[in-house]
Amino acid sequence: MPKITIDRSLCTGCGLCASLCPDAFEVGDDNIAKVIGSSCGDQSIEEVASQCPVEAIKVD
Ligand code: SF4
Repeated sequence: MPKITIDRSLCTGCGLCASLCPDAFEVGDDNIAKVIGSSCGDQSIEEVASQCPVEAIKVD
């Protein structure tokens, strides 16, 4: 299973990741994304991570 991390210092809370993959990402009350899962259905988690405008999502 991939290790997914969000760099909290970079995340702007734009919500794109949660919109693309609500099973794996959620924007918290602090307006920063958090990881809630590791599956994105038809998309790969890497694909979703690559769309983050500030490259805050790391997949190892
Ligand atoms: S797409 Fe990137 S900047 Fe936007 S909420 Fe997700 S992690 Fe944060």
